[in-house]
Amino acid sequence: MFACPLCNEWLYVSALCNKCEKTKNIVSCYGIDKVNTALTSFFLREEEKVDNKVKNEITTRSKAHKHKGIKGLDGEIK
Ligand SMILES: [Zn+2]
Repeated sequence: MFACPLCNEWLYVSALCNKCEKTKNIVSCYGIDKVNTALTSFFLREEEKVDNKVKNEITTRSKAHKHKGIKGLDGEIK
């Protein structure tokens, strides 16, 4: 048995599994640079959006709750 070098699916005879063979065909048609650019821009852009959303949520929550309930720091001076 062999492992597909791209996705590690177990195979009996082929070097690539069917899914990765299709990907290889796409690379053959468009070239590795174009496919790599498309994949990178799609997936990394999505990751950046997710990271930015998480950062914004943390910032918003921390500003709202930073000094809540702490005497003298929660905006109420007594
Ligand atoms: Zn595969």
